[in-house]
Amino acid sequence: MTTVPLNDLARGHAEQATELRDAVAAVMRSGWYVQGPAHDRFEAELAAFLGVDRCLGVASGTDALTLALRAVADRSGGAAVVTAANAGGYTTAAARLNGLRPVYADVSPESLCLTPGTVERALDDEVAAVVVTHLYGRMADVEGIVALCHERGVAVVEDCAQSIGASRDGRAAGSFGDVATFSFYPTKNLGAMGDGGALATSDPTLADRLQAMRQYGWTGKYHVTHPGGTNSRLDEVQAAVLSVRLPLVEAHNERRRAIISRYATAAEGVAGFRVLPAEDEAHAGHLAVAVVEDRDRVRDHLARHGVGTDVHYPVPDHRQPISPTPTPALPVTEHAADHVLSLPCFPQLTDDEVARVCDAIASA
Ligand SMILES: *Cc1c(COP(=O)(O)O)cnc(C)c1O
Repeated sequence: MTTVPLNDLARGHAEQATELRDAVAAVMRSGWYVQGPAHDRFEAELAAFLGVDRCLGVASGTDALTLALRAVADRSGGAAVVTAANAGGYTTAAARLNGLRPVYADVSPESLCLTPGTVERALDDEVAAVVVTHLYGRMADVEGIVALCHERGVAVVEDCAQSIGASRDGRAAGSFGDVATFSFYPTKNLGAMGDGGALATSDPTLADRLQAMRQYGWTGKYHVTHPGGTNSRLDEVQAAVLSVRLPLVEAHNERRRAIISRYATAAEGVAGFRVLPAEDEAHAGHLAVAVVEDRDRVRDHLARHGVGTDVHYPVPDHRQPISPTPTPALPVTEHAADHVLSLPCFPQLTDDEVARVCDAIASA
């Protein structure tokens, strides 16, 4: 029996093989390998797609978070960053790289995202920024969090690594906060053929600052006008690949949501097995995640039925061995770490494969 894989990136390549090869070959011939015309074009396309004024390519989603936090914390002078502990640890890494202290707020049991209520309890005078992760592709109540934070002079960073293409009332995830971050790691909904990331903002001062910081702090060549500079560039080949793929994101997200809805239907009536819904455009359908009572048993059952699974994420940030003690109490976050289970979800899954996963769910 072949296994239904959690993901299969080669199928995504096959779907656009000719266009991708042509785009990469054109870059090779052009003699421009960093911040050339393909990069400028992708930045403009992404800004238009998101409805923001400026997008900036960087080397990864983690670099985008690191630069975003450095820029907003320098502006406000705060020393702490409020975020969720169930979102893979990327924000924690970025905060620590900047010498900022991560402060964890719990998440909603329903969405597994931060809410204005959980964020409010974590805010104090030390907080420079809140990072809202639109987890698994689902948009958090970012409008509510922005209103709360801006009232108190706290910046909001949207981590859209999992939510590119999600929108509410016609406004894209990534267009609500002070700045948004994206990852083009190959498994993301818009994936490169290597690493890549981007920043998005409509604040011109912040955009200029970030643009300088991603390249040594330069405004012009060899003129260091901004502190906190580094080298974090999205290369020309990756930008060209991303331009080929960006036009498919919305259709792919729709297919992802349809797959998740099939799983949710299959799980109805299965005790202790709830698939987190992905019903409308406010969900990019990045991961199909179930909350299951007896995860080890369910994983075994699915494996025996040829269904690949994974756990996003098994260890919350505050429980990582490098986390300082004492650890805060985050009951919803901790429950999720022990009970979430990711099911196969990518646009090129066949209907037969989806049906096989549904059968395995229904018999779990
Ligand atoms: C993947 C991911 C990142 C990090 O992106 P990289 O490009 O791998 O550095 C950050 N945040 C979230 C929520 C992610 O899923």
